Amino acid sequence: MPGKKHPHRYEHVETPIGFVWRCSLPECAHYMPQHMESFLMPGRRVMCNECSNTFILTPVKMQSIQPICDACETERLMRRRERELVSQTKSDSIKSDEANTEILEALLKEIGER
Ligand SMILES: [Zn+2]
Ligand SMILES: [Zn+2]
Repeated sequence: MPGKKHPHRYEHVETPIGFVWRCSLPECAHYMPQHMESFLMPGRRVMCNECSNTFILTPVKMQSIQPICDACETERLMRRRERELVSQTKSDSIKSDEANTEILEALLKEIGER
């Protein structure tokens, strides 16, 4: 039985003749001939490599080895920003901890001097 028609899930893989776009779904043997990719791929509806929703492929998306949809791109960006914020807050709290220790030490000194 032939595989059901589907939006291809493109990934850029290295082959003996260079990088080629192929469909990464196990039941599909489709690949895009290198000299045709810039003509045939942009504007095509493809499957997201992360969430399996479909989206329209653009030359910008083709800069990624495994293109993902806008929603997944936004989510990745937000997760990265969240991590950055967390690490920033962490270093901030370390700084304030150091400041607190300084105040404490100063206080203890004062008490000891009495
Ligand atoms: Zn396919
Ligand atoms: Zn997605």
